[in-house]
Amino acid sequence: MEQFVMNTKVYMGSSCLDKIKDLPVTKAYIICDPFMAQSGKVNWITELLQEKGSSYEVFSEVVPDPTIEVVSKAIGGMKCFGPDAVIALGGGSAIDTAKAASHIYSQMGNERLFLIAVPTTSGTGSEVTNFSVISDPQAQAKYPLRSDSMVPDAAFLDPRFTVSVPPHITADTGMDVLTHALEAYVSTNAGDFTDACAEKAVRLVWNYLARTVEEGNDMEARTHMHNASCLAGVAFNGASLGLCHSMAHALGARFHFPHGRSNAILLPHVISYNAGLEDAGEQIACGRYVAIANMLGIAAGTDKATVHGLVRHIKNLMNKIKIPQQITDLKIDKDEFEQAVREMAEKALADNCTLTNPRVPTVEEIETIYRKLCKGG
Ligand code: NAD
Repeated sequence: MEQFVMNTKVYMGSSCLDKIKDLPVTKAYIICDPFMAQSGKVNWITELLQEKGSSYEVFSEVVPDPTIEVVSKAIGGMKCFGPDAVIALGGGSAIDTAKAASHIYSQMGNERLFLIAVPTTSGTGSEVTNFSVISDPQAQAKYPLRSDSMVPDAAFLDPRFTVSVPPHITADTGMDVLTHALEAYVSTNAGDFTDACAEKAVRLVWNYLARTVEEGNDMEARTHMHNASCLAGVAFNGASLGLCHSMAHALGARFHFPHGRSNAILLPHVISYNAGLEDAGEQIACGRYVAIANMLGIAAGTDKATVHGLVRHIKNLMNKIKIPQQITDLKIDKDEFEQAVREMAEKALADNCTLTNPRVPTVEEIETIYRKLCKGG
């Protein structure tokens, strides 16, 4: 049996935040990253809670790629405060911290808390997914936790929050959206419902990502990218992801660069691999990439030539938004990278996202893809 579940009530647009007053929140634990507290953006929410007569406490110690330690601290704060709702405000790191902390808090015998997500980057789609990605710095690993109880009850896509996102983070997170949509589209779990969301997300990224990077105040572009991020989240929540994410988790955990950027630099190479562009491998995903390419107006004779065209266009987009394409541009030493390749490949192979990749990789094939990051091209 196939099913498509969408549990999150999604509010969107620049005046949507007001609706928070209608939700069952009397005692809110707000989880955000330090920027949201320091910049005063958290006040946009606390003022509404005050008007509603709700009490709140702010936990603003979220770190990028949230760790087990930060999640534990947030749980400690919840235990002291005793909230009936959690509001996550921030990028994927804040939302994932809130999701994991709320989940574990309820597993400890407390009632499940009403969960609200207010994303401030247009990237992860975490506001609608049942994933939370938590890092273990000692093991140099990132673990995607998955539980339907972590799906937020409500999400507010207010693009005003994203205007302050600097160009390089706008670029990285925007490429995360594209990767989510493309991986969901070629996933072995893809279906008509997830395809619809993935296709729309790809179109929106194609039309608006470069604009948001070039002109951060372009509200039309920001709004569409924020919607694209959520739509891609809906797509991959239903269809899951693929090898690019597995490899990005291992790469990001080992070399500590942003999730969106890890995905971006791997994406062209994973598409080439999945479509069998450089070998005589299975071509299971080739037709799916051709369909996306055609939707974007890219057609070049044979199927493989069309997928080559898609890869070229993605690289052009990355150049335009100034995303590096080689690990040396990311200030990673080539020898150190080479030493890490085997271990990263093993972790990527074991990552759950690999299960729905359209081509079943071997550890050696994953190593080969990692090594392409040293050659550029
Ligand atoms: P992030 O949350 O780590 O934020 C990146 C940086 O942007 C931080 O320094 C943050 O302070 C800053 N920032 C956020 N919003 C801002 C704003 N409005 N203005 C200025 N600065 C702002 O980045 P992200 O890419 O949104 O999230 C990445 C995390 O999400 C990773 O841990 C990744 O593994 C995870 N992730 C989760 C899912 C999921 O479904 N749960 C999906 C993809 C990725």
